[in-house]
This record gives sequence, structure tokens and C-alpha cells, in this order.
Amino acid sequence: MDLQLPVQKFSRSYKMYFRKLERLGIHKLEDFLFHIPFRYDDYSLTSNVSALQEGETVTVMGNLESIKNVYTYHRKNLQQAVIADNTGKLNVLWFNQPFLTRILKPGDHVSLSGKIVTDKGKLAMISPEYEVIFGGKNIHTGRLVPVYPETHGISSKWLRRQIYKLLDQAYQIKEYLPPQVIDDNNLMDLSDALRFVHFPNSLKEADRAKQRLAFDELFDMQLQSLVRKKLWQQKIIKKPMEIERGKIEGFIKSLPFELTNSQVSAVGEIIKDLSLEKPMNRLLEGDVGSGKTVVACIAMYIAFMNNLQSAFLAPTEILAKQHFKTIKDFLSPFGLQIKLFTGSSKKNQTAKFDIAVGTHALIYNRIEFEHLGLVVIDEQQRFGVEQRASIRGKGNNPHLLTMTATPIPRTVALTMYGDLDLSLLSDMPKGRKIVKTWLVPPIKRNGAYAWIEKKIKTEFDQVFIVCPFIEESESMVTVKAAKMEYERLKNEIFPDLKLGLLHGKLKADEKDRVLTEFKDRKIDILVSTPVVEVGIDIPGASIMLIEEAERFGLAQLHQLRGRVGRSDKQAYCLLFTQSKTKETLDRLKLLETVYSGAQLAEFDLKLRGPGQIHGTAQHGIPRLKIASFADFDLIEKTGIEARKIFHQLKQYPMLSARIKPLSEQLVSPD
Ligand code: ADP
Ligand code: MG
Repeated sequence: MDLQLPVQKFSRSYKMYFRKLERLGIHKLEDFLFHIPFRYDDYSLTSNVSALQEGETVTVMGNLESIKNVYTYHRKNLQQAVIADNTGKLNVLWFNQPFLTRILKPGDHVSLSGKIVTDKGKLAMISPEYEVIFGGKNIHTGRLVPVYPETHGISSKWLRRQIYKLLDQAYQIKEYLPPQVIDDNNLMDLSDALRFVHFPNSLKEADRAKQRLAFDELFDMQLQSLVRKKLWQQKIIKKPMEIERGKIEGFIKSLPFELTNSQVSAVGEIIKDLSLEKPMNRLLEGDVGSGKTVVACIAMYIAFMNNLQSAFLAPTEILAKQHFKTIKDFLSPFGLQIKLFTGSSKKNQTAKFDIAVGTHALIYNRIEFEHLGLVVIDEQQRFGVEQRASIRGKGNNPHLLTMTATPIPRTVALTMYGDLDLSLLSDMPKGRKIVKTWLVPPIKRNGAYAWIEKKIKTEFDQVFIVCPFIEESESMVTVKAAKMEYERLKNEIFPDLKLGLLHGKLKADEKDRVLTEFKDRKIDILVSTPVVEVGIDIPGASIMLIEEAERFGLAQLHQLRGRVGRSDKQAYCLLFTQSKTKETLDRLKLLETVYSGAQLAEFDLKLRGPGQIHGTAQHGIPRLKIASFADFDLIEKTGIEARKIFHQLKQYPMLSARIKPLSEQLVSPD
């Protein structure tokens, strides 16, 4: 059996489940094996019927004597069964699973795992996990039983069975790590790791297996960064840029503000990059409002002084327009020609320009660059690998400056973006007010609404209300929830204010219209789903209200509140939650005192529970399956090993083969 086979080619039932499996990230057979349990139910204690004790969780094996459906007065139904071994009989009870009488038949040799209770004075087992045993093999009972991430229509039990069957083929999985790496790091062999991560004999064994797989996950990433970095460094620029410091100073003096310290260092780092013979590959990371655009402007100005054009790529039309205006204000006084290209502008433009600002249209509308020397990409995670490569392909090894407001924790940057140089804008421009943030208890909800109404009526504030985060990508469920909240607020809470609704299923021009209305103050309160555009500048918006805040990560909440406070007015962020657990409340309260996105991202990592990693993928932080970005030791260890192996990669064909397709895909064709 070929583990690389796409699931739908394997069997009819997999073909039927194809979409659902895809949702779990299972595309080919091998992916089943890498679908890792998030916990194990311990059913390893087995007992004879006569030795059972009330309260224990235990596995009993025996002969099924009888099973029947019973209907109660309350239209519920029960499944009553009796199981016997040679020490006695035990009553078993399930609720609302009438299909069980079709699966379990009297005479079957069954294994049941569950809790022992007293029912009407006799010991009984309630709602146990069950299986019919053939040939003495337990999968779902009588052992440490893996529990998997599920999706609607695909249960853990079903997954367990598929994985169990597939593991018989795991001998096909060849070890690809060099023996020395395995030895030095005391790692389990790969095929053992895969077997034991699913069906361990002890939790310790499961841990060792996970450690091995986590090692691989991070090691791969580290190795890939090294490969990418090397390929990048092979690129050569014919003529390094000349730096005219006096003119740069002149530009900086012309600004209506003083650069922050971190802007000054970022500019210094960029100047150094630009004067080298290798193209720059730098990521500029800074919270919303930290002033990334002006830093990019300085880089573009330097390109201009070297007779080179720049391309400035923005993810949406609104952002492109906004940037176009800013960049023009800053740079046209210095003689630069700036042009805007969006989906709605004409194709095949031949106009002369020094800077082309635009959306994807810059890539696809055949805009000719005569001498592209610098590419700036705003919100870089919103662009695919090919898109980034193809805009760069319009020049001859242009310098690349990517920007992001996503607070990427240092460890993530090290593993994922190890090939990029990083400049961090860690301080905010002077005088910028922080967004005052409060966690609002449910009893104060109406008070908060009244306060908002007053702020709108007396101070002409504008408000964002962000609806709960329901699913990773915006679905109809999310849209429906937002619509309902919009109706409720409009009809019941703020009947005499003007409300607008924004969600991802609106057409682009609809979205534009709503946002323009909001910007023009024709809307007081904009109700929106969490996934719609960040980075839009609505200077009048000064209040951000977030529903069910506990569903978001801290960094994500921080980004949301960054949408307000774009003027000198005091801005506020109100967080609502129904949660009463101390952990959640403490976590959310961090936002009242911590105002650095990077710091909050680190908290997210440390406090990360299953519910707290929502939304990270959408912001370009990859989701690790097994390892954790909070595991600093393992990140460091895999980094060291990757650097060691990298220089001798040719000696390990299996390892290079693993890395190769990825590095080819990630690196542009030029
Ligand atoms: P972002 O990093 O979110 O892209 P922008 O570049 O849009 O931030 O900058 C936000 C605002 O702050 C802009 O109006 C910009 O002109 C202004 N700004 C940038 N740097 C400074 C500074 N050092 N002092 C004061 N204002 C600044
Ligand atoms: Mg920006």
C-alpha cells in the first residue's frame, strides 16, 4: 500500500468522507498516521466481574448475554444489556443509542470500558465504550485509548479504527533522520514513534513518541529556513545602492514628527542591507500604528535616488488607496512619481512612475517595471508564496521588505522565518494614547451600552462591535450570528442610532460601500465579524466592543483594538465574556495592562490551551501539529541539529529529498 496515495483513491468510504477528512488536514493515507491524539482515555485496568468496585473506570470482557431497547415515559430510550464472564454477571446501560442492538448481538465476545456505578442496589456499567473482540485485539477498550481531533461526521472511534489498520503498514515508513541525530537526542525510531503515539503501552511511551514527532516538525522547519536562506544568499545584485545620507536626513527632517528609536534602528538596518551586493530580505514587524509605512518610504526614497523603481503591495483595495495617499504626501515633494494600480484600474498601463502602489493587480495586470529595485509587501502573510515570488520576478533580484502587524513571538520568527532578517518596531510614536481596555462583567452590559450611546451622542464617537469568533474561516454560521446581533442591537438597544453590518460574505464593492459610509460618519456603530480586514484607518472610531472575548487569542484581541485610537481622541476597548473561570478572566485582564502585541503573543504561547490558538493560521502563524512554539528548548535543540546537518545534507539523500520540494516551492524561480 502506498501511503502517499490520496485518500479518495483508496476506498469508496474514504472518497465519501473526502471533504470531512480534508477539514482535518487528512489528504493522503500517511496523514492519518500524523493525525495525533490530543489525549488518551485510560482503560487499561481490566477486571473480572466479581472483583468490580463502585466508582472505578475499568474494562470488562465477557459474553454478551442480552441487549434490548427500552423506552421510558419521557420518550427517552435506554439500551439494557447483560454481560457475563466466568465470575459473574453485570448490567450495562447506554442512553439513546438504539443502533447498539444492531452492532452488539447476544453471544458476541465483547469488551466494555467505562465507569462502575450502583444502580438500584446493584453494580452496573454506564455508557461504556464498547467493541466486539475478534482474535483478541483491543482497539477501543482495555488499553490507553487515543482520542483525536474530530469533525462533524468523523468520530474519534472511526479514526482510531482507520489508523489501527494503517499502522500495520507503518513498516513502510523509513527512518530519514541520520543515526547520529537520533542517538544524540535520544529519539525514538520513526515507525515506533508513529505506532506508540497512537497506541502506547504507557503514557510515558506516548510522551517519548510525541517528543520524536515534535522534534521532526521543528527540525524540518529549521532545515527549510536554512535552505531558503542559502538560496537567497546566492542571489547577487550587480550594482549595490549608493546611500546619500544628507538627502535621507533631509527627508527625515521634512516629516511632521520625529522618528521613534526603533524606527531609527530599522532605517539603519535597511540602509545597511541596501548597500550590499545581496538582496535584502527583511521583515519589519510592528504593532498597528507603530509607523511602518514611513520606514518603507525611506527605503523607497533610497531606491529612487539610485534610479530604481519600487513596488508597494497591499492586500486590499482600501489599504492600497490609503497607502497611495500617504506615500504621495510623504514623497511627491521630493520629486517621486507615485501611481496607484488596483483591480479597477486600466490594464497594461505604461505610465511612468517611481513607485507603484497597488493590490494583486500589480502582479496580474502586466504592469511593466523598467528597473524594479525594491519590493515592499504590507501584511505579507496575506500573500501566497507564488504571489510574493512573481512580484519579485518583475525585477532582477530586487530587495524585499515585508511588513506585518501580526505580533510574531520570537520563537516563531526564529523557526519559521529564520531565513529573514527581522526589524522590530517596539515603541510607539510619542503622544500616541493607549487604548483604555476594560473587561466588562455581564451585569454591566446595559450600563456599557448606555455609556456607548452617550459617547456617540455627545462626543460623536464611532464604535466597532465585533461578534464572537465562531469558526476559523468565515462561514454562513458566523455571518448569521453577526446578522442576528446586528438586528438585535439595531432594534432593541440602539434604535435611534445608525448601524452598519460588515462581514466576509459581502461582495467587495458592498464592503467598500459600508466602510466608506463608516469613514464618512454616516454609520455610528459598525457590527462586524472578526475576520474582516484589519488595518483600515477610521480616524473617528474610538470604541471597540468585542463579544465573547475568551474565544480570541490575546494577540488577536490586541490587533482588534488597534482598529481604534487612530486620532488624538482617547480610545476604549470593552471586552465582554460570559466566562466565569478565573483562568480566563485573568488572561483577558492582561489586556488592561499589557499594550505590546509581541508581549501578548508570548503570553498566548505560554497560556495556550486548545481554545486559545484560534485565528493564528489566518494571521500567518503556522499551526504546529505536535510541537509547540512555547517549547524553547526543543526549538533551540532542533536549530543546533539543523545547522550541523545542513552542511552535510548531501550525505543524507532521504532527508534532502524531504526538504527539497519544499525549498523549491518556497523560493522564487529567479
Ligand atoms: P502601521 O505600522 O500600522 O502601518 P502607519 O505607518 O500607518 O502604521 O503609521 C500610523 C500613523 O502614525 C501614521 O499617521 C503615521 O504618519 C504616523 N507616524 C509614523 N511614525 C510616527 C512617529 N515617529 N511619530 C508620530 N507619528 C508617526
Ligand atoms: Mg500599515
